[in-house]
Amino acid sequence: MLGKLTFLGAARNVTGSCYLLESQDTRVLIDCGLYQERKYQERNWQPFPFDPQSLDAVFLTHAHLDHCGLLPKLVREGYQGKIYCTQATAEIAEIILLDAAKLQEEDAVYKQERHRKDGRRGPYPEMSLYTVADAEAVAPHFSAVEYLRCVGINSNIEGCHYEAGHVLGSAVIGMNVRQDGKNHRIVFSGDVGEPDRPIVNDPTLFDEAEYLVIEATYGDRTHEEHKNTDIQKQLRDCINRTVSAGGNIIVPSFALERSQEMLYHLNELLLRKEIPPVPVFLDSPMAIRITEVFKRHAELFDKEMMQRLRQGNSFFSFENLRIVQSVEESKAINSIKGSSIIIAGSGMVTGGRVKHHIVNNIRRPESTILFIGYQAEATPGRILLDGAREIRLLGQMHPVRAHIEKIDGFSAHADRDGLLAWLSDIRVPPRCVFVTHGEEKAATSFARILQERTGWTVKVPQYKDTVELV
Ligand SMILES: [Zn+2]
Repeated sequence: MLGKLTFLGAARNVTGSCYLLESQDTRVLIDCGLYQERKYQERNWQPFPFDPQSLDAVFLTHAHLDHCGLLPKLVREGYQGKIYCTQATAEIAEIILLDAAKLQEEDAVYKQERHRKDGRRGPYPEMSLYTVADAEAVAPHFSAVEYLRCVGINSNIEGCHYEAGHVLGSAVIGMNVRQDGKNHRIVFSGDVGEPDRPIVNDPTLFDEAEYLVIEATYGDRTHEEHKNTDIQKQLRDCINRTVSAGGNIIVPSFALERSQEMLYHLNELLLRKEIPPVPVFLDSPMAIRITEVFKRHAELFDKEMMQRLRQGNSFFSFENLRIVQSVEESKAINSIKGSSIIIAGSGMVTGGRVKHHIVNNIRRPESTILFIGYQAEATPGRILLDGAREIRLLGQMHPVRAHIEKIDGFSAHADRDGLLAWLSDIRVPPRCVFVTHGEEKAATSFARILQERTGWTVKVPQYKDTVELV
C-alpha cells in the first residue's frame, strides 16, 4: 500500500482545507485551514484528530485563512517541524495570521462583555481561538521554497510547489512517494486560478497524477464575461458616471489580491486616460502591507506585468495613488473636495475603515458603493447588494441613496470549464480524483461532470474520511 489520505476539512464545504497524508511511517499535512462557515466553526475548537507532534512536515498551498488559519493552533499544540511554502506565501500568511489573531482577541473581549451583560453563555469558549503570541510563533516554522524545487522529507517522500495562479505565491502541491523503485504522484490543487488573470502567472498544468485532490468552489458554474477588458469597461463606466455627477466611488475590498487587482485596473484606465485623473486612496493597513509583499516579489509577476514594470508603470506606485496609513489621514479624506476613489476593507463591510466611508457617502445619490467580491449572507455588503432602502452602520440607521453596484469578474477561482481545462493535459487516468473545497452541490455536480467527460473514477469525500492509496 502506498499510504493513506484523510480529509480533515473542505470536504463537502469550502473552508478548513486540511489533508493528512500518511505513507511508510511519514506523516505530512497539506494545509491547515480555518473553518469560516458559521455552521462548521465549532470544528476550529475541537482537538486535531492527530497528534501535531507526530507530523514530519506541513506543506502550505497559499495564505488565505481557510488554508493557513489553524497553523497557530497547530504550533501551540506541539508541531515542531517546518511549514513549506513559497516566500511570498510565508510573508502574506504572517500578516494575515497576526490580523486574524488580533481580531479574535478583540472579539473575545467583546463577547465576554456582551455575555456578562446578557447573563448567558455562547456556543464557543469566550476566549480567542489563538492569541497574537500564538500567531507570532508560526513564523519561525516557515521554510521558503521556490516553485518546482522539490523538498525531500526523507528518501521516500518529497513535495513540490507549482504555480496555482490564484493569489501571489499560491501553489499546487505535488507529493512524490517512492515505493518499490517507482515514483507515485499525489497532486493537491489548493485553489486554482483562472488563466489570464492580471499580475499572477497562469496555473501550471499537469500531465500525470496518480491521485488528485481538486477544489470545486465554482465547480457547478461558468463565470460569465471574465475578461480583463470587460472588468475595465464596467469599471470605467461606473467611475465616469460617478465623477461627472460629483460623487465618490467607495470600493469595499479584500486585502489580498483583490485590492491589488483593483489598483492594477485603475492604473490601466488612468494610463489610457479613459477615466479622469481623480485621486485613488488605498485606505486599508492590511492591504498596504500585502501590497508591499507584491513589491518585493516582482519575480512572481506574469509577462504583461513585468513589461509594465520595465516601462516604469506599476499599479503600486502610480501618480494618483495615495497610501493612507493613519486613522487621521483616513478621516481627512472626507473633507477633500471633488471626486475620489476609495479602496478600503473589509470586503464585506463587516468591519474596518470602509464603514466610515460608506456612512459618509450613503446618503449621496451622486456617490457609488462598488462591490468587487463575494458577499456572504447577512453581511452589510449583502444587505446593500440585495437592495435595502436603509442600513444600520456604526450604530445608526442610514437611508440608502447612493448607487450600489457590483462587478463580477474578479473571481480568483477557476470555474467549471477552467477546472476541466486545468485537467486537460492529464493523459493517463488517475486512479482516483477527490473533489473537495466546494459546497455539497458544487462538489457533487463537478464530480459528475468530470466523470462523464473523462470516465475517470471521481469521489466526493466526507469529513474525516480516510482512503487507502494503493
Ligand atoms: Zn484561496
